[in-house]
Order: sequence, then C-alpha cells, then structure tokens
Amino acid sequence: MPRRAYLIGHPTAHSISPAIHNAAFEACGIDAAYEAVDVPPSDLARWVLDIRRQHLLGFNVTVPHKETIVGYLDGADGDASRCGAVNTVVVDRSNASLPRLRGTNTDAAGFRRSLVEEAATTLGTQRVLLLGAGGAARAVALVALRDGASALWVVNRTPERADRLLKELSSVAGATACRSLALADPDLSRLFADATVVVNATSVGLGSGGDTPSSPPPSPPLGGRGSDFRAGTLVVDLVYNPPRTAFLEAAERCGARILGGLGMLVYQAAAAFELWTGQPPPVGVMRAAAEQALAPGVVPP
Ligand code: NAP
Repeated sequence: MPRRAYLIGHPTAHSISPAIHNAAFEACGIDAAYEAVDVPPSDLARWVLDIRRQHLLGFNVTVPHKETIVGYLDGADGDASRCGAVNTVVVDRSNASLPRLRGTNTDAAGFRRSLVEEAATTLGTQRVLLLGAGGAARAVALVALRDGASALWVVNRTPERADRLLKELSSVAGATACRSLALADPDLSRLFADATVVVNATSVGLGSGGDTPSSPPPSPPLGGRGSDFRAGTLVVDLVYNPPRTAFLEAAERCGARILGGLGMLVYQAAAAFELWTGQPPPVGVMRAAAEQALAPGVVPP
C-alpha cells in the first residue's frame, strides 16, 4: 500500500505542491502519493485524528492552519516556533507503538538555499530591507539574523506586527541592527537606497494560484516605490506565481538583480521530502515539475 503525504489548507485547489512531490516520489521509486486536501478550520481536529490511523509519510500545512495546527500535534521544533508557523509535519516513529506528529518549518531553509543556489549569496553582512511581517517574512528575518546581516529593517502595513516580529526573534538577533517601520515612515526612501537586499514577503503581487491565493492588487508594494531601487541591489519576491511580478520588473528596470519565489518553493519542498523519506531530494526533477505546473494554461486563471 502506498504511503500517503498531504497538503492541508483552505482552499488548496491551486497548489502545485502535489505536482512537485509526486514527481519526486516517482523519480526516487518511492511508493507514495501526495494529495492536496481542502480542510475547513472546523474539520481540522477530526482530520488530524483520522490521519494518525493512516500509513503516513507526513504532511504540509498552509493557510489558514499554519498556526492553529500546533494545538493538534505532539510538539513543534524551534524553527516552527520562531517562524510562528508550521508548514511541515513529520512522523516521529522512534517509539514504534506510539508514532508522534512533530511540526517544523522548512521555509527558512528553502529561502536560504534559493539565495545560495540562485543568487550565489547569503544575507551575512548585508543590509536587508524586508517588506511584510507574516509567516514568510519571519522565515526571511530568521535567515537574516542567523546569517549575521549587518542591518534588518522590517516594513509592514500593520507596524505593530513588524514590532512583534523583531521582539520575538530578538534572541537570535546577535549584532544585527534591527528596526521596524511603518509604510509612511519618512526614512523609508533612504533605507531603500541603502539596502543591499530587498525582499518582498507580502502577498502583494500574488496572482492566481499559489498556496495562499488571496487577491490583493497586482501592483508593487508600497505604492509603486520601484524607482527607489539602487543598481546592483538584490531584489527578491517570494511570490512565485506569476514568476515575474510587477515588483521584480520595476526593480530590474532600475538595474537591480532579481530573484523570484519559485526556488524557495522548490527548496522548502525538497527539505520536507528529505525529512519524510530520509533520502536526498531530486531537486532538478522537483523544479521541472513546478515549472511545468505553472506553465500558461496548466494553472487555472
Ligand atoms: P501572511 O502571513 O498572510 O502575511 C501577509 C503579509 O502581506 C503581511 O505582512 C501583510 O501585512 C502583507 N500584505 C497583504 N496585503 C497587503 C497590501 N495590500 N499592502 C501591503 N501589505 C500587504 O502570508 P505569508 O504566509 O507570510 O505569505 C506572504 C507571501 O509569501 C505570499 O505571497 C506567499 O505566497 C509567499 N510565500 C512564498 C513561499 C515560497 O516558497 N516562495 C513560501 C511562503 C510564502 P499586514 O500584516 O498589514 O496584514
């Protein structure tokens, strides 16, 4: 009987994670199947109870369950608590008679590997301007602080959320100079020009598809602040659908280097695959499956 892996969220119809993971299982000859399941919040407790009886590899978690799932698991690790979100659940079988469900978060690892592999850099010694303060922004902030960024400036529409992010990650801040800002802060233009890396971790620019299909306006964040990018700055957008957002296009017009979110998506999936199977992930196969799933006409508009 094939082992099972899942993505749970509400909704999940547009997710490309099944394409990525099923291609990886097939390439590695693993008898397993990955399925996206729409689980409304009212069904979450029952779903987790039922899943414990299955021949389970593990599961991914997306909006709106990334925080609430913790209450239904047997524990969560440090990255999950630092990111304030579980995106991957592994089955701990060290006690064969009592398998335990443990939450973790592979977004920080996925983001870091994307920077290293696709932009040949890390956030060490960089001045990082981070737009957003949700779960994905926390993963980016964690990487910036662990890698020893010289500065981390967190800008968010709701400034209290940016304050909270920095407060809750203060134990890993080291020597990084941290500051939170509101969108209207008069220093923002100067910080845009000073930053060596700018990351959009808001959901602005997210088109159809993706694991968090909210529908904000498809415009660059911060009211079209594209003209503030400095040539040579690395500008990253965590949005992967569309692959080139308006934000990245504005940055490129200013001479910035650009990086989209597809690599992070593939590498966070690769990290989950490795946790579930103990095998090296076939990253090339996973990336090709993701690109194919995002090809025009494959993802519904
Ligand atoms: P989240 O927790 O819901 O956070 C959303 C963030 O976007 C918040 O900071 C929110 O600000 C901000 N925001 C939303 N609409 C806005 C608007 N119209 N103007 C300005 N700010 C706005 O979501 P998340 O899980 O962090 O995901 C954020 C993005 O990252 C999504 O596009 C998601 O697809 C992407 N992501 C990509 C990957 C990947 O592997 N590539 C992984 C995870 C997430 P407030 O706090 O003011 O609401």
